Amino acid sequence: MAARPVREARPASVQELADTVRTATEEGLRVKTVGTGHSFTSIAATDGVLIRPDLLTGIRRIDRRELTVTVESGTPLKRLNAALAREGLSLTNMGDIMEQTVAGATSTGTHGTGRDSASIAAQIRELELVTADGRVLTCSEKENPEIFAAARIGLGALGVVSAITFAVEPIFLLTAREEPMSFDRVTAEFEALHAENEHFEFYWYPHTGNCSTKRNNRSAGPAAPPGRISGWIEDELLSNGLFQVVNSIGRAVPPVVPAIAKVSSRALSARTYTDIPYKVFTSPRRVRFLEMEYALPREAAVGALRELRAMVDRSPLRVSFPVEVRTAPADDIALSTASGRDTAYIAVHMYKGTPYRSYFTAAERIMTAHGGRPHWGKLHTRDAAYFADVYPRFGEFTALRDRLDPDRVFGNDYLRRVLGA
Ligand SMILES: Cc1cc2nc3c(=O)[nH]c(=O)nc-3n(C[C@H](O)[C@H](O)[C@H](O)COP(=O)(O)OP(=O)(O)OC[C@H]3O[C@@H](n4cnc5c(N)ncnc54)[C@H](O)[C@@H]3O)c2cc1C
Repeated sequence: MAARPVREARPASVQELADTVRTATEEGLRVKTVGTGHSFTSIAATDGVLIRPDLLTGIRRIDRRELTVTVESGTPLKRLNAALAREGLSLTNMGDIMEQTVAGATSTGTHGTGRDSASIAAQIRELELVTADGRVLTCSEKENPEIFAAARIGLGALGVVSAITFAVEPIFLLTAREEPMSFDRVTAEFEALHAENEHFEFYWYPHTGNCSTKRNNRSAGPAAPPGRISGWIEDELLSNGLFQVVNSIGRAVPPVVPAIAKVSSRALSARTYTDIPYKVFTSPRRVRFLEMEYALPREAAVGALRELRAMVDRSPLRVSFPVEVRTAPADDIALSTASGRDTAYIAVHMYKGTPYRSYFTAAERIMTAHGGRPHWGKLHTRDAAYFADVYPRFGEFTALRDRLDPDRVFGNDYLRRVLGA
């Protein structure tokens, strides 16, 4: 983190949270709530009061008629998923991991992949927001709808989210089909693979023509989770243990990366399993990395990926981490990376400790030429002038920010760069 807080606070109720914000405002201090710190940027940094959400956790209520769950904002997604499963319920879609808090994940637009279902924030039906003056506002399509339209992905700029109500559904099963595929085939058939599957994603291994694909679709069952040993081999040994070794070798001896990539990209074999949603969507990610991810109009994604491949091939870059491609339908949230347009995400990663700037800079040049929108929690170099261009509703968000937080109590350096003063 770039800045150091003057002090930390651990409010245990909405009232204590509102008091913490009000007192800081009166003292002229800035305020920032952190989640689990999984963002790659300094979006959660502050030189004022840092609010830690560990005591703002748990389920407030489940409404089985409306099919909603209301949770305290500091609840980790993994706790929410497990609690919902015990109640026979589930979120519709998830990202790759579930370590983050519900408010931290949604505030930056955390998403998985989906043809019909969008980001975690798009599953919000209502949220409770503590504003700079210490008021507690309920926001939904009916109440404070203009705040609801923006605050579901609020970047921590509009206030502190104290509770979130998500849409849920009766728990269901997903069948995952993982299959190696050539780069040429995936890119040629991308639109069909996207259209024919509820959740399609793939990884391309730089320096190779190899990809791993994953298709998740609802299933009538029965559940058939990965076997204990075969699951451990795929998810722990190959995806984490050996992958860690491969990356460490690549960091120490970059010239061997392409040769290793050709072998390691073939290590994961085809498999099919059926399980409850969060167990299919998420997996352990123990190998540390840095990431930049851009959201492009979906029709631009294959072209951009081919440009990325050509760029890597003609450069001296040695990239040992795969490139991840996912999709999302257009949504109605002002600063969602999928706001108003059907989207495909292209994410580039570098193993922690490896120089990443020249790779990310070259990749970013390709993504921005296609009008790409970077993930708010991942590395990028864009500023407010750029965002005003790629987000038609950027002015709506900044006008709301001017109204709710004119003194920039929730400001920090990152927000000054991306939203303007
Ligand atoms: C290993 C790994 C895997 C990841 N996988 C994915 C993925 O699959 N898909 C994806 O889209 N992203 C992914 N991410 C990115 C990650 O989901 C986001 O960066 C997310 O915002 C992190 O959540 P957090 O709880 O750690 O929040 P933090 O990083 O701590 O905070 C993020 C933002 O939320 C704000 N915030 C937190 N709590 C509140 C609150 N109560 N009220 C208002 N604002 C608040 C903070 O101020 C900050 O602005 C991944 C990151 C890592 C490290």
